[in-house]
Amino acid sequence: LVSRKWRVKPTVLDLGDGVSIGEGSLALCAGPCSIESEAQMEKVMAHLVENGVRLMRGGVFKPRSSPYSFRGLGMDGLKLFYSMAQERGIKIMTEVMQVSQVEEMHDFVDVFQVGARNTQNFNLLDALGGVDKPVMIKRGISGTIEELLSSAEYVFSGGNEKLILCERGIRTFETASRNTLDLNAVPILKEKSHLPVIVDPSHGIGIREYVPAMALAGVLAGADGIVYETHETPETAASDGQQTLNFDESAKLIRNLRRVYELR
Ligand code: PEP
Ligand code: MN
Repeated sequence: LVSRKWRVKPTVLDLGDGVSIGEGSLALCAGPCSIESEAQMEKVMAHLVENGVRLMRGGVFKPRSSPYSFRGLGMDGLKLFYSMAQERGIKIMTEVMQVSQVEEMHDFVDVFQVGARNTQNFNLLDALGGVDKPVMIKRGISGTIEELLSSAEYVFSGGNEKLILCERGIRTFETASRNTLDLNAVPILKEKSHLPVIVDPSHGIGIREYVPAMALAGVLAGADGIVYETHETPETAASDGQQTLNFDESAKLIRNLRRVYELR
């Protein structure tokens, strides 16, 4: 069902209020790795509004490798995130980690994010097949392209056709970068599937200085959008600061992404 063989026309998701994801426009989504506080969100949202970015990312339930790392503000943080964003005309995307959260979070998200550690959480995918909100599925940490498409098939066949595929890098033998952003996946996914494809260069390379280059490369490879991490002071971010852009770097990237998209 997610295959081009079944549907030739590219899927374009309408998030409402003039925000869409899919062919015909460049979707930009930016924000911190973790939602940390009201003050932090205020600053990020002002930055996004200033630069015309209508979709914000930010985790309130964080899958951390160590149980002692910051694990997110949970539902209280999400409710504040959603209401602050709504006031500013911003849509939000945030990670859902387990089945029980789907219903709890439903009224406070615009796009559910399935993280790389949950790409093959089939119970979660089944649950998301039953909701009427868009879902972005990230490629698994060691997942193949085919496995990503199979995960999307779970949600689609469950009745939810509002899907986005995300290339966020895979684990390889390379240790010079956090992950290996597989840009090959972009044209392959675009060819195989009618679903929008988004690239996450932040997790894909994991090193702040290199994020803009990989974001631009993602657009040139044919991505329908880019999702990346930004924070007023990346050095103090609660998670993933090493791959997070400050607002100057982010503003410059947004300008360049729009330019490069026009060249396509
Ligand atoms: C994130 O988006 O902050 C995240 C945890 O991403 P991933 O699931 O790709 O590691
Ligand atoms: Mn992150």
